[in-house]
Amino acid sequence: MAWDFETEPEFQKELDWVDRFVAEEVEPLDYLLPDPYDVRCARRNALVKPLQKIVKERGLWACHLGPELGGQGYGQVKLGLLNEILGRSKFGPIVFGCQAPDSGNSEILAHYGTPEQKERYLRPLLNNDIVSCFSMTEVQGGADPKVFTFSAVEDGGEWVLNGEKWFSSHAHVASFFIVMAVSDPDASEYRRLSAFIVPAETPGIEMVRNMPVGHHGHPAHAYLRFNNVRVPKDHLLGERGGGFVVAQTRLGGGRIHHAMRTIGQVKRAFDMMCERVLSRHTQGTLLADKQMVQEKIADSWIEIEQFRLLVLRTAWKIDKYKDYLAVRKDIAAIKALMPRVFHDVAARALHIHGSLGVTPDMPFAEQVIESFHMGLADGPTEVHKVTVARQVLREYHAATGKFPSRYIPHLREAAVAKYGRLLDEIEAQAA
Ligand SMILES: Cc1cc2nc3c(=O)[nH]c(=O)nc-3n(C[C@H](O)[C@H](O)[C@H](O)COP(=O)(O)OP(=O)(O)OC[C@H]3O[C@@H](n4cnc5c(N)ncnc54)[C@H](O)[C@@H]3O)c2cc1C
Repeated sequence: MAWDFETEPEFQKELDWVDRFVAEEVEPLDYLLPDPYDVRCARRNALVKPLQKIVKERGLWACHLGPELGGQGYGQVKLGLLNEILGRSKFGPIVFGCQAPDSGNSEILAHYGTPEQKERYLRPLLNNDIVSCFSMTEVQGGADPKVFTFSAVEDGGEWVLNGEKWFSSHAHVASFFIVMAVSDPDASEYRRLSAFIVPAETPGIEMVRNMPVGHHGHPAHAYLRFNNVRVPKDHLLGERGGGFVVAQTRLGGGRIHHAMRTIGQVKRAFDMMCERVLSRHTQGTLLADKQMVQEKIADSWIEIEQFRLLVLRTAWKIDKYKDYLAVRKDIAAIKALMPRVFHDVAARALHIHGSLGVTPDMPFAEQVIESFHMGLADGPTEVHKVTVARQVLREYHAATGKFPSRYIPHLREAAVAKYGRLLDEIEAQAA
Protein backbone atom coordinates (compact mmCIF):
# COMPACT_ATOMS: atom_id res chain seq x y z
CA MET A 1 0.00 0.00 0.00
CA ALA A 2 1.53 3.29 -1.04
CA TRP A 3 -1.16 5.80 -0.01
CA ASP A 4 0.62 8.10 2.40
CA PHE A 5 -0.39 11.58 3.52
CA GLU A 6 2.64 12.22 5.72
CA THR A 7 5.67 14.37 5.04
CA GLU A 8 9.12 12.83 5.58
CA PRO A 9 10.45 14.11 8.94
CA GLU A 10 13.64 15.41 7.30
CA PHE A 11 11.72 17.49 4.79
CA GLN A 12 9.24 18.60 7.45
CA LYS A 13 12.18 20.18 9.27
CA GLU A 14 12.93 22.17 6.13
CA LEU A 15 9.28 23.21 5.83
CA ASP A 16 9.25 24.32 9.48
CA TRP A 17 12.34 26.42 8.82
CA VAL A 18 10.74 27.93 5.67
CA ASP A 19 7.54 28.66 7.58
CA ARG A 20 9.43 30.65 10.23
CA PHE A 21 11.75 32.33 7.73
CA VAL A 22 8.86 33.48 5.53
CA ALA A 23 6.84 34.75 8.51
CA GLU A 24 9.72 36.59 10.17
CA GLU A 25 11.95 37.74 7.31
CA VAL A 26 9.99 37.71 4.05
CA GLU A 27 6.39 38.71 4.79
CA PRO A 28 7.45 42.14 6.21
CA LEU A 29 8.71 43.04 2.70
CA ASP A 30 5.10 42.86 1.42
CA TYR A 31 4.31 45.97 3.49
CA LEU A 32 7.39 47.95 2.50
CA LEU A 33 8.15 47.41 -1.17
CA PRO A 34 5.78 47.65 -4.15
CA ASP A 35 7.33 45.25 -6.65
CA PRO A 36 9.16 41.96 -5.96
CA TYR A 37 10.21 41.83 -9.63
CA ASP A 38 11.93 45.22 -9.84
CA VAL A 39 15.54 44.03 -9.93
CA ARG A 40 16.62 47.60 -10.76
CA CYS A 41 15.34 48.99 -7.45
CA ALA A 42 18.20 49.52 -4.99
CA ARG A 43 15.90 49.40 -1.90
CA ARG A 44 14.40 46.11 -3.09
CA ASN A 45 17.82 44.58 -3.76
CA ALA A 46 19.20 45.70 -0.40
CA LEU A 47 16.45 43.73 1.37
CA VAL A 48 15.89 40.81 -1.02
CA LYS A 49 19.43 39.78 -1.98
CA PRO A 50 20.60 38.89 1.57
CA LEU A 51 17.48 36.74 2.05
CA GLN A 52 18.09 35.01 -1.29
CA LYS A 53 21.65 34.28 -0.12
CA ILE A 54 20.34 32.59 3.04
CA VAL A 55 17.93 30.48 0.94
CA LYS A 56 20.77 29.45 -1.40
CA GLU A 57 23.00 28.51 1.52
CA ARG A 58 20.15 26.46 2.97
CA GLY A 59 19.90 24.59 -0.37
CA LEU A 60 16.32 25.68 -1.05
CA TRP A 61 16.91 27.93 -4.06
CA ALA A 62 14.96 27.27 -7.29
CA CYS A 63 13.46 24.00 -6.07
CA HIS A 64 11.38 23.71 -9.26
CA LEU A 65 14.58 22.93 -11.19
CA GLY A 66 16.74 19.84 -11.44
CA PRO A 67 20.31 19.84 -10.08
CA GLU A 68 21.73 20.44 -13.58
CA LEU A 69 20.23 23.94 -13.42
CA GLY A 70 21.09 24.68 -9.81
CA GLY A 71 17.87 23.39 -8.20
CA GLN A 72 17.29 20.52 -5.80
CA GLY A 73 15.31 18.24 -8.13
CA TYR A 74 12.79 17.84 -5.33
CA GLY A 75 9.89 17.00 -7.61
CA GLN A 76 6.40 18.44 -7.50
CA VAL A 77 5.09 17.07 -4.19
CA LYS A 78 7.87 18.66 -2.16
CA LEU A 79 7.63 21.78 -4.28
CA GLY A 80 3.88 21.84 -3.58
CA LEU A 81 4.41 21.73 0.17
CA LEU A 82 7.02 24.46 -0.09
CA ASN A 83 4.94 26.64 -2.42
CA GLU A 84 1.99 26.51 -0.01
CA ILE A 85 4.17 28.47 2.41
CA LEU A 86 5.76 30.77 -0.19
CA GLY A 87 2.35 31.62 -1.67
CA ARG A 88 1.42 33.48 1.52
CA SER A 89 3.82 36.30 0.65
CA LYS A 90 4.21 38.36 -2.55
CA PHE A 91 7.98 38.22 -2.00
CA GLY A 92 8.07 34.51 -1.06
CA PRO A 93 8.59 33.04 -4.54
CA ILE A 94 11.22 35.64 -5.54
CA VAL A 95 13.22 35.09 -2.34
CA PHE A 96 13.23 31.33 -3.10
CA GLY A 97 13.93 31.72 -6.85
CA CYS A 98 10.76 30.04 -8.13
CA GLN A 99 8.54 32.95 -9.25
CA ALA A 100 6.32 32.95 -12.33
CA PRO A 101 6.80 33.60 -15.18
CA ASP A 102 10.59 33.25 -14.77
CA SER A 103 10.22 29.64 -13.56
CA GLY A 104 8.42 28.62 -16.77
CA ASN A 105 10.58 30.79 -19.00
CA SER A 106 13.70 29.21 -17.57
CA GLU A 107 12.27 25.78 -18.41
CA ILE A 108 11.77 26.96 -22.02
CA LEU A 109 15.30 28.36 -22.27
CA ALA A 110 16.81 25.25 -20.68
CA HIS A 111 14.94 23.11 -23.20
CA TYR A 112 15.23 25.14 -26.41
CA GLY A 113 17.97 27.78 -25.93
CA THR A 114 21.35 27.65 -27.65
CA PRO A 115 24.46 27.53 -25.39
CA GLU A 116 24.98 31.28 -26.00
CA GLN A 117 21.35 32.06 -25.10
CA LYS A 118 21.62 30.00 -21.95
CA GLU A 119 24.70 31.98 -20.99
CA ARG A 120 23.17 35.36 -21.85
CA TYR A 121 19.58 34.87 -20.57
CA LEU A 122 19.17 31.68 -18.55
CA ARG A 123 22.12 32.02 -16.18
CA PRO A 124 21.24 35.54 -14.91
CA LEU A 125 17.55 34.59 -14.88
CA LEU A 126 18.20 31.60 -12.63
CA ASN A 127 20.15 33.87 -10.31
CA ASN A 128 17.37 36.50 -10.30
CA ASP A 129 19.87 39.09 -11.55
CA ILE A 130 17.27 39.73 -14.26
CA VAL A 131 13.56 38.94 -14.71
CA SER A 132 11.62 38.00 -17.84
CA CYS A 133 8.20 38.28 -19.45
CA PHE A 134 6.01 35.79 -21.33
CA SER A 135 4.14 37.68 -24.02
CA MET A 136 1.36 35.77 -25.76
CA THR A 137 -2.08 37.38 -25.22
CA GLU A 138 -3.30 39.93 -27.77
CA VAL A 139 -5.93 42.63 -27.38
CA GLN A 140 -8.45 40.92 -29.65
CA GLY A 141 -8.42 37.73 -27.58
CA GLY A 142 -6.15 35.77 -25.33
CA ALA A 143 -8.14 32.58 -24.97
CA ASP A 144 -8.01 31.84 -28.70
CA PRO A 145 -4.53 31.91 -30.28
CA LYS A 146 -6.18 31.39 -33.68
CA VAL A 147 -7.10 35.10 -33.67
CA PHE A 148 -3.52 36.26 -33.00
CA THR A 149 -2.12 38.61 -35.66
CA PHE A 150 1.25 39.64 -34.16
CA SER A 151 3.60 38.77 -37.02
CA ALA A 152 7.13 37.51 -37.50
CA VAL A 153 8.61 37.81 -40.99
CA GLU A 154 12.06 36.64 -42.06
CA ASP A 155 14.22 39.34 -43.59
CA GLY A 156 17.80 38.42 -44.45
CA GLY A 157 19.46 37.07 -41.34
CA GLU A 158 16.79 38.44 -39.00
CA TRP A 159 13.18 38.11 -37.89
CA VAL A 160 11.07 41.27 -38.02
CA LEU A 161 8.28 41.45 -35.42
CA ASN A 162 5.21 43.66 -35.72
CA GLY A 163 1.99 43.91 -33.73
CA GLU A 164 0.55 44.37 -30.26
CA LYS A 165 0.64 42.28 -27.08
CA TRP A 166 -1.68 42.65 -24.11
CA PHE A 167 -1.23 41.90 -20.41
CA SER A 168 2.46 41.04 -20.67
CA SER A 169 3.21 40.78 -16.95
CA HIS A 170 6.40 42.39 -15.63
CA ALA A 171 7.41 43.67 -19.09
CA HIS A 172 8.35 47.02 -17.49
CA VAL A 173 11.19 45.40 -15.52
CA ALA A 174 12.00 42.41 -17.77
CA SER A 175 15.35 42.11 -19.53
CA PHE A 176 13.84 39.93 -22.25
CA PHE A 177 10.49 38.72 -23.49
CA ILE A 178 9.49 35.33 -24.83
CA VAL A 179 7.06 36.36 -27.54
CA MET A 180 4.59 34.23 -29.53
CA ALA A 181 4.26 35.45 -33.10
CA VAL A 182 2.49 34.31 -36.28
CA SER A 183 5.39 33.19 -38.47
CA ASP A 184 3.37 30.91 -40.76
CA PRO A 185 -0.09 32.44 -41.30
CA ASP A 186 -1.12 29.82 -43.88
CA ALA A 187 -0.10 26.78 -41.86
CA SER A 188 -2.61 24.68 -39.93
CA GLU A 189 -4.10 26.11 -36.70
CA TYR A 190 -1.44 24.78 -34.37
CA ARG A 191 1.56 25.40 -36.65
CA ARG A 192 1.10 29.16 -37.21
CA LEU A 193 2.95 30.41 -34.14
CA SER A 194 6.64 30.51 -33.31
CA ALA A 195 8.35 31.57 -30.09
CA PHE A 196 11.10 34.21 -30.02
CA ILE A 197 13.45 35.68 -27.44
CA VAL A 198 13.32 39.46 -27.67
CA PRO A 199 15.81 41.51 -25.59
CA ALA A 200 13.93 44.37 -23.90
CA GLU A 201 16.34 47.01 -25.20
CA THR A 202 15.67 46.10 -28.88
CA PRO A 203 14.66 49.26 -30.81
CA GLY A 204 10.97 49.51 -31.76
CA ILE A 205 9.34 48.17 -28.56
CA GLU A 206 6.79 50.66 -27.28
CA MET A 207 4.99 50.45 -23.93
CA VAL A 208 1.50 51.74 -24.70
CA ARG A 209 0.26 51.31 -21.10
CA ASN A 210 1.17 49.47 -17.94
CA MET A 211 -1.92 48.32 -16.02
CA PRO A 212 -2.57 47.24 -12.45
CA VAL A 213 -5.03 44.56 -11.34
CA GLY A 214 -7.93 46.23 -9.50
CA HIS A 215 -7.82 49.83 -8.25
CA HIS A 216 -4.92 49.74 -5.84
CA GLY A 217 -2.50 47.30 -7.48
CA HIS A 218 0.99 48.13 -8.68
CA PRO A 219 1.04 48.53 -12.50
CA ALA A 220 2.73 45.39 -13.83
CA HIS A 221 0.79 44.21 -16.92
CA ALA A 222 1.89 45.86 -20.13
CA TYR A 223 0.14 46.73 -23.35
CA LEU A 224 3.04 46.54 -25.81
CA ARG A 225 3.43 47.57 -29.44
CA PHE A 226 6.23 46.18 -31.58
CA ASN A 227 7.22 48.39 -34.54
CA ASN A 228 9.61 46.58 -36.89
CA VAL A 229 11.46 44.97 -34.00
CA ARG A 230 14.42 43.00 -35.38
CA VAL A 231 15.94 39.97 -33.66
CA PRO A 232 18.70 37.65 -34.94
CA LYS A 233 17.60 34.42 -36.60
CA ASP A 234 18.84 32.28 -33.73
CA HIS A 235 16.39 34.04 -31.36
CA LEU A 236 13.70 31.68 -32.64
CA LEU A 237 13.05 29.20 -29.79
CA GLY A 238 12.27 25.67 -30.82
CA GLU A 239 11.08 24.90 -34.34
CA ARG A 240 9.55 27.41 -36.70
CA GLY A 241 5.78 26.88 -36.27
CA GLY A 242 6.41 25.09 -32.98
CA GLY A 243 5.24 27.91 -30.70
CA PHE A 244 2.42 25.85 -29.17
CA VAL A 245 4.80 23.08 -28.18
CA VAL A 246 7.17 25.64 -26.63
CA ALA A 247 4.29 27.28 -24.71
CA GLN A 248 3.15 23.90 -23.39
CA THR A 249 6.65 23.34 -21.97
CA ARG A 250 5.93 26.09 -19.44
CA LEU A 251 2.18 26.02 -19.01
CA GLY A 252 1.79 22.58 -17.40
CA GLY A 253 4.20 23.42 -14.59
CA GLY A 254 3.10 27.05 -14.46
CA ARG A 255 -0.52 26.16 -13.79
CA ILE A 256 0.11 23.73 -10.96
CA HIS A 257 2.65 26.08 -9.36
CA HIS A 258 0.00 28.84 -9.31
CA ALA A 259 -2.36 26.37 -7.62
CA MET A 260 0.24 25.44 -4.98
CA ARG A 261 0.83 29.09 -4.12
CA THR A 262 -2.90 29.78 -4.10
CA ILE A 263 -3.35 27.21 -1.31
CA GLY A 264 -1.14 29.46 0.83
CA GLN A 265 -3.24 32.53 0.03
CA VAL A 266 -6.54 30.77 0.66
CA LYS A 267 -5.31 29.25 3.90
CA ARG A 268 -4.24 32.71 5.07
CA ALA A 269 -7.74 34.11 4.40
CA PHE A 270 -9.25 31.13 6.23
CA ASP A 271 -6.99 31.57 9.28
CA MET A 272 -8.02 35.22 9.49
CA MET A 273 -11.70 34.28 9.21
CA CYS A 274 -11.35 31.78 12.06
CA GLU A 275 -9.55 34.32 14.25
CA ARG A 276 -12.27 36.90 13.59
CA VAL A 277 -15.22 34.67 14.43
CA LEU A 278 -13.57 33.77 17.73
CA SER A 279 -12.91 37.45 18.49
CA ARG A 280 -16.20 39.21 17.69
CA HIS A 281 -19.38 39.30 19.78
CA THR A 282 -22.67 40.19 18.12
CA GLN A 283 -26.16 39.95 19.61
CA GLY A 284 -24.93 38.32 22.76
CA THR A 285 -22.77 35.53 21.31
CA LEU A 286 -19.50 35.01 19.56
CA LEU A 287 -19.77 34.99 15.76
CA ALA A 288 -18.29 31.49 16.02
CA ASP A 289 -21.45 30.32 17.83
CA LYS A 290 -23.84 31.32 15.06
CA GLN A 291 -24.78 28.47 12.75
CA MET A 292 -24.66 30.42 9.50
CA VAL A 293 -21.15 31.53 10.42
CA GLN A 294 -20.25 27.94 11.26
CA GLU A 295 -21.47 26.95 7.81
CA LYS A 296 -19.01 29.40 6.26
CA ILE A 297 -16.17 27.93 8.31
CA ALA A 298 -17.16 24.36 7.46
CA ASP A 299 -17.65 25.03 3.73
CA SER A 300 -14.33 26.84 3.54
CA TRP A 301 -12.40 24.12 5.35
CA ILE A 302 -13.93 21.38 3.19
CA GLU A 303 -13.22 23.27 -0.05
CA ILE A 304 -9.62 24.04 0.93
CA GLU A 305 -8.92 20.44 1.91
CA GLN A 306 -10.43 19.08 -1.32
CA PHE A 307 -8.44 21.56 -3.41
CA ARG A 308 -5.20 20.88 -1.54
CA LEU A 309 -5.54 17.12 -1.88
CA LEU A 310 -6.25 17.42 -5.61
CA VAL A 311 -3.21 19.67 -6.08
CA LEU A 312 -0.93 17.32 -4.14
CA ARG A 313 -2.25 14.24 -5.91
CA THR A 314 -1.65 15.96 -9.25
CA ALA A 315 1.87 16.83 -8.10
CA TRP A 316 2.37 13.20 -7.13
CA LYS A 317 1.18 12.06 -10.56
CA ILE A 318 3.61 14.44 -12.29
CA ASP A 319 6.45 12.98 -10.22
CA LYS A 320 5.25 9.47 -11.04
CA TYR A 321 4.68 9.82 -14.80
CA LYS A 322 7.25 12.59 -15.47
CA ASP A 323 4.99 13.80 -18.25
CA TYR A 324 2.65 16.79 -18.06
CA LEU A 325 0.52 15.43 -20.90
CA ALA A 326 -0.30 12.31 -18.87
CA VAL A 327 -1.82 14.54 -16.16
CA ARG A 328 -3.52 17.07 -18.43
CA LYS A 329 -6.94 16.34 -16.98
CA ASP A 330 -5.74 16.77 -13.38
CA ILE A 331 -3.89 20.01 -14.11
CA ALA A 332 -6.91 21.42 -15.97
CA ALA A 333 -9.13 20.40 -13.03
CA ILE A 334 -7.05 22.23 -10.43
CA LYS A 335 -6.75 25.23 -12.76
CA ALA A 336 -10.56 25.33 -12.97
CA LEU A 337 -11.06 24.76 -9.24
CA MET A 338 -8.43 27.25 -8.03
CA PRO A 339 -10.25 30.54 -8.77
CA ARG A 340 -13.52 29.26 -7.29
CA VAL A 341 -12.02 28.12 -3.98
CA PHE A 342 -9.88 31.26 -3.78
CA HIS A 343 -12.84 33.52 -4.55
CA ASP A 344 -15.31 31.82 -2.24
CA VAL A 345 -13.06 31.61 0.79
CA ALA A 346 -11.68 35.17 0.35
CA ALA A 347 -15.22 36.52 -0.16
CA ARG A 348 -16.47 34.77 3.01
CA ALA A 349 -13.49 36.08 4.97
CA LEU A 350 -14.22 39.59 3.66
CA HIS A 351 -17.89 39.31 4.60
CA ILE A 352 -17.17 37.96 8.07
CA HIS A 353 -14.91 40.98 8.72
CA GLY A 354 -17.82 43.32 7.93
CA SER A 355 -16.99 46.87 6.83
CA LEU A 356 -13.35 46.35 7.79
CA GLY A 357 -13.23 43.51 5.27
CA VAL A 358 -13.84 45.74 2.26
CA THR A 359 -11.07 48.23 3.11
CA PRO A 360 -7.47 48.04 1.85
CA ASP A 361 -6.48 47.64 5.52
CA MET A 362 -7.31 43.96 5.09
CA PRO A 363 -6.20 41.79 2.13
CA PHE A 364 -9.59 40.34 1.16
CA ALA A 365 -10.72 42.74 -1.57
CA GLU A 366 -7.35 42.29 -3.28
CA GLN A 367 -7.62 38.52 -2.87
CA VAL A 368 -11.08 38.45 -4.44
CA ILE A 369 -9.71 40.34 -7.49
CA GLU A 370 -6.65 38.06 -7.47
CA SER A 371 -8.99 35.07 -7.69
CA PHE A 372 -10.13 36.43 -11.06
CA HIS A 373 -6.46 36.67 -12.08
CA MET A 374 -6.18 32.94 -11.33
CA GLY A 375 -9.28 32.26 -13.41
CA LEU A 376 -7.88 34.10 -16.46
CA ALA A 377 -4.09 33.88 -16.60
CA ASP A 378 -2.90 30.75 -18.43
CA GLY A 379 -6.37 30.42 -19.95
CA PRO A 380 -9.90 31.02 -18.66
CA THR A 381 -11.70 28.47 -16.49
CA GLU A 382 -14.16 27.48 -19.22
CA VAL A 383 -11.35 26.29 -21.49
CA HIS A 384 -9.92 24.11 -18.71
CA LYS A 385 -13.31 22.65 -17.90
CA VAL A 386 -13.63 21.70 -21.58
CA THR A 387 -10.27 19.92 -21.30
CA VAL A 388 -11.39 18.05 -18.17
CA ALA A 389 -14.65 16.98 -19.81
CA ARG A 390 -12.96 15.86 -23.03
CA GLN A 391 -10.30 13.89 -21.17
CA VAL A 392 -12.86 12.30 -18.88
CA LEU A 393 -15.10 11.32 -21.78
CA ARG A 394 -12.20 9.54 -23.46
CA GLU A 395 -12.50 6.98 -20.66
CA TYR A 396 -16.13 6.20 -21.61
CA HIS A 397 -17.96 4.58 -24.54
CA ALA A 398 -21.42 5.07 -26.01
CA ALA A 399 -24.09 2.51 -25.06
CA THR A 400 -24.48 -0.13 -27.73
CA GLY A 401 -28.28 -0.50 -27.66
CA LYS A 402 -31.30 1.79 -27.52
CA PHE A 403 -31.17 1.91 -23.72
CA PRO A 404 -28.34 2.90 -21.32
CA SER A 405 -26.07 0.05 -20.31
CA ARG A 406 -27.30 0.44 -16.70
CA TYR A 407 -31.03 0.28 -17.69
CA ILE A 408 -32.48 -1.50 -14.66
CA PRO A 409 -34.95 -3.84 -16.48
CA HIS A 410 -32.05 -5.18 -18.58
CA LEU A 411 -29.83 -5.54 -15.51
CA ARG A 412 -32.65 -7.39 -13.76
CA GLU A 413 -33.04 -9.75 -16.74
CA ALA A 414 -29.30 -10.43 -16.69
CA ALA A 415 -29.39 -11.04 -12.92
CA VAL A 416 -32.27 -13.47 -13.33
CA ALA A 417 -30.37 -15.27 -16.11
CA LYS A 418 -27.33 -15.56 -13.83
CA TYR A 419 -28.89 -16.47 -10.48
CA GLY A 420 -32.56 -17.21 -11.21
CA ARG A 421 -32.15 -20.96 -11.40
CA LEU A 422 -30.18 -21.04 -8.17
CA LEU A 423 -32.84 -18.95 -6.40
CA ASP A 424 -35.57 -21.27 -7.77
CA GLU A 425 -33.70 -24.31 -6.44
CA ILE A 426 -33.28 -22.72 -2.97
CA GLU A 427 -36.97 -21.84 -2.88
CA ALA A 428 -37.94 -25.40 -4.01
CA GLN A 429 -35.76 -26.90 -1.23
CA ALA A 430 -37.29 -24.57 1.35
CA ALA A 431 -40.87 -25.43 0.29
C1 LIG B 1 -3.32 39.34 -13.92
C2 LIG B 1 -3.13 38.73 -15.28
C3 LIG B 1 -1.85 38.46 -15.73
C4 LIG B 1 -1.65 37.97 -17.02
N1 LIG B 1 -0.37 37.77 -17.47
C5 LIG B 1 -0.17 37.39 -18.74
C6 LIG B 1 1.16 37.27 -19.26
O1 LIG B 1 2.15 37.50 -18.55
N2 LIG B 1 1.31 36.94 -20.57
C7 LIG B 1 0.26 36.71 -21.38
O2 LIG B 1 0.47 36.40 -22.54
N3 LIG B 1 -1.03 36.81 -20.93
C8 LIG B 1 -1.25 37.15 -19.63
N4 LIG B 1 -2.53 37.28 -19.16
C9 LIG B 1 -3.63 37.16 -20.09
C10 LIG B 1 -4.44 35.89 -19.94
O3 LIG B 1 -3.73 34.79 -20.44
C11 LIG B 1 -5.76 36.15 -20.69
O4 LIG B 1 -6.47 37.10 -19.90
C12 LIG B 1 -6.59 34.92 -20.92
O5 LIG B 1 -5.97 34.05 -21.82
C13 LIG B 1 -7.98 35.31 -21.46
O6 LIG B 1 -7.85 36.13 -22.58
P1 LIG B 1 -8.64 37.52 -22.64
O7 LIG B 1 -8.32 38.31 -21.43
O8 LIG B 1 -8.38 38.15 -23.96
O9 LIG B 1 -10.15 37.11 -22.55
P2 LIG B 1 -11.06 36.46 -23.69
O10 LIG B 1 -10.25 35.55 -24.53
O11 LIG B 1 -11.79 37.56 -24.35
O12 LIG B 1 -12.05 35.62 -22.81
C14 LIG B 1 -12.98 36.34 -21.98
C15 LIG B 1 -13.97 35.37 -21.40
O13 LIG B 1 -14.69 34.72 -22.43
C16 LIG B 1 -15.05 33.41 -22.01
N5 LIG B 1 -14.44 32.43 -22.90
C17 LIG B 1 -13.30 32.53 -23.60
N6 LIG B 1 -13.07 31.39 -24.28
C18 LIG B 1 -14.08 30.55 -24.00
C19 LIG B 1 -14.41 29.23 -24.40
N7 LIG B 1 -13.62 28.52 -25.22
N8 LIG B 1 -15.55 28.67 -23.89
C20 LIG B 1 -16.36 29.38 -23.05
N9 LIG B 1 -16.09 30.63 -22.65
C21 LIG B 1 -14.96 31.21 -23.12
C22 LIG B 1 -14.50 33.25 -20.59
O14 LIG B 1 -15.49 33.62 -19.65
C23 LIG B 1 -13.36 34.24 -20.58
O15 LIG B 1 -12.98 34.64 -19.27
C24 LIG B 1 -2.76 37.72 -17.86
C25 LIG B 1 -4.05 37.96 -17.38
C26 LIG B 1 -4.24 38.45 -16.12
C27 LIG B 1 -5.64 38.73 -15.65
